[in-house]
Amino acid sequence: MAYSVPKLTDYSAPALAAAVGECIRACAIEAAAVRNDAELKAFRDRWIGRKNGILPQINELWLKGAPKGAKRDAGIRVNELKAQIQELVEGAHVARENADSAAAERVDISLPGVRRPIGAEHPVVKTTNEMVRVFQKLGYSVAEGPVVETDYYNFESLNFPPNHPARDTQDTLFIAGQQSKPQRERLLLRTHTSPVQIRTMETMRPPIRIVIPGTVHRNDPPDASHSPMFHQIEGLAVDTNITFGDLKGTLDHAMKEFFGSNVKTSFRPSFFPFTEPSAEMFVSCFICGGSGKRDGSAPCRPCKQTGWIEVLGCGMVDPNVFEFVKDNGYDPKKVSGFAFGMGIDRLALLKYGVDDLQYFFQGDVRFLQQFG
Ligand SMILES: [Zn+2]
Repeated sequence: MAYSVPKLTDYSAPALAAAVGECIRACAIEAAAVRNDAELKAFRDRWIGRKNGILPQINELWLKGAPKGAKRDAGIRVNELKAQIQELVEGAHVARENADSAAAERVDISLPGVRRPIGAEHPVVKTTNEMVRVFQKLGYSVAEGPVVETDYYNFESLNFPPNHPARDTQDTLFIAGQQSKPQRERLLLRTHTSPVQIRTMETMRPPIRIVIPGTVHRNDPPDASHSPMFHQIEGLAVDTNITFGDLKGTLDHAMKEFFGSNVKTSFRPSFFPFTEPSAEMFVSCFICGGSGKRDGSAPCRPCKQTGWIEVLGCGMVDPNVFEFVKDNGYDPKKVSGFAFGMGIDRLALLKYGVDDLQYFFQGDVRFLQQFG
């Protein structure tokens, strides 16, 4: 039965205590029964509402009706009672809010799960890793170096003296505001991975066999075959009695491993400041099989109908380069070596039949998904 405020006739201390206790018990039971916002409001109005609330009724019935001698004690007990009722109403309010937020956090296990896309190797990274693996099987290890380089490592120690015209072939991006520094200490974005050759020879004594993958930068406006940022992989082998025959044998094996065992290779003379003699290496076109024609008659574009595709530059390490690291065991009279370098992005274009380099760097998932 719902609680209603009784009239008090006995104002003795035990009778007051019993009446107060009964009132609080009733309030606590009703507070615990509150299940929604409407019930909370009804509960609140019933107990502390200004018009017909139970607290105003208690004021009216218990205090005003008290005999003179009992007014003071009754006042103290009623004040305590009010405080406890207020507390119960507050408590019911807080309990409701907690119940709401718990409901919001509850997981509906009948909903379908969230599918998170799995990443995949970028075609350039994939091509880099494939090429690195080819050389790792031959006993080469991987070396890396900084992208922001000094003029010394990028040019001077690779036999590009200051004012040498070969520097003009690499449109270099220099870091601004370094005019006060000596030229060899000025910073730039490396134009090739070759500085890592010198950096490695400074720390490791011969013999060495390394491959160097990495990003390089040149001041080339972006188009279908150029980008201001691109990727190279470079190799260096130094030992006693390394000959041009070792260079040809190694690279011929590596290209067959990478492109397939039926490609042929060909070397043509070239020039690089840090190798002497130097060569460009071609592989027979793996798209048209070297015929220059596709499907019998259509011209093969990747090899420009020549049947050959240029894949890398190489040569025997110029003795002038060894002079810079002579003190670490690279006496040009005792050691010899070969170096090679290739553009990874171009190999990826050829391998996957992509006709615009920019696709690789625009981050368009619709394009990149094809390689996942
Ligand atoms: Zn072809």
